[in-house]
Amino acid sequence: SKVPPIILNNGVEMPQLGFGVWQVPDDEAQTAVAQALEAGYRSIDTAAIYGNEEGTGKAIAASGIAREDLFVTTKLWNKDQGYDSTLRAFDTSLAKLGLEYVDLYLIHWPMPAKERYVDTYRAFEKLHADGRIRAIGVSNFYPEHLERLIGETSVIPAVNQIELHPHLQQHAAREYHAEQGIATEAWSPLGQGKGLLEVPAIVAIARKHGRTPAQVVLRWHLQIGNVVIPKSVTPSRIKENIDVFGFTLDTEDLAAISALNEDRRLGFDPAEFNGE
Ligand code: NAD
Repeated sequence: SKVPPIILNNGVEMPQLGFGVWQVPDDEAQTAVAQALEAGYRSIDTAAIYGNEEGTGKAIAASGIAREDLFVTTKLWNKDQGYDSTLRAFDTSLAKLGLEYVDLYLIHWPMPAKERYVDTYRAFEKLHADGRIRAIGVSNFYPEHLERLIGETSVIPAVNQIELHPHLQQHAAREYHAEQGIATEAWSPLGQGKGLLEVPAIVAIARKHGRTPAQVVLRWHLQIGNVVIPKSVTPSRIKENIDVFGFTLDTEDLAAISALNEDRRLGFDPAEFNGE
C-alpha cells in the first residue's frame, strides 16, 4: 500500500491515513468502501452507531484483499458501556463486519458522568488478551479521562481518536498523548469540509503547491504526526484525499496553518456528551 504506517505503542502498524464512513448509509457504505479500497486505502474507520458495519464488511469481503493487509477500526457505542455489555456488543460488531478480529476497537465517548469507561476498558483488555482485537484505544477522551484509565487498568491505550483540524488543534491533548506514547487520530480532519477549505491561507498554500485545500490540510496532519481518516462518498475526492504523499509542506506553510487555531469545535464537548 502507498500509505506509510505509524507504529502503535504495542508494535502494531497502523496506516497513517484511512477512510472514515460516518454518515454513510449501510447500502452506500459498501460502494464507498469498495471505491476506497480500489483507490489504495487499507484502513477503514467505522463504528457500531454508524449503522454501516455490514456494508463495510461486505466491501472488505468482496475486495479479495488479504485480511492481514487491512486495518479495520470499529467503536463501542455509549449504551453498551459496561463489562458484560461490551463483550456482547463486540460480538455483534464482529458478526456484522464478518471478521474474525478487528485491528482497533475504541470506546466511542468517555461519558464521564456515567463512570463506566474503566469497566468497559477492562472488557477491551480481555478481548485484546483473547486475540480478538490487535490494539485497543479510546475516542474523545480528555487527558484527565486517560489519566484515570491508565491509573486503573494495565494496557495503555494505543490511540485516542479526537476532533482535530486547523481550527481545533488540540495542543494539550497532543502533548499528553506524546508523553504517554498514545497515537493521536484526528476525526473530522477536514473540518467536515465546511469553511475550512476556503480559508485564504489554506487556498494560497494549495495554489503554491498545485494541490487542493483538502490535500494541504491532510498533509499538515500527516507532517505533525496525526493519523487521519477523511470521509467522502465522491470517487474523485476519495482518490484526491489519499494522493497526499507526493508533496511536502515547508516550515512556512506549517506555521501559517498552525496560526489558524481557534479552539473551535464542530462536535460535542466530550466532558458533557452522555447521549445513548
Ligand atoms: P471530514 O473532516 O473528513 O470531512 C468530510 C466532508 O468533507 C465530506 O462529507 C465532504 O463534504 C467534504 N470533503 C471530503 N473530501 C473533500 C475534498 N477532497 N474536497 C472538498 N471537500 C471534501 O469529516 P467527518 O466525516 O466528520 O470525519 C471523518 C471521519 O472521522 C468520519 O467519517 C468518522 O469515521 C470519524 N469521526 C469520528 C468521530 C468520533 O466521535 N470518534 C466523530 C466524527 C467523525
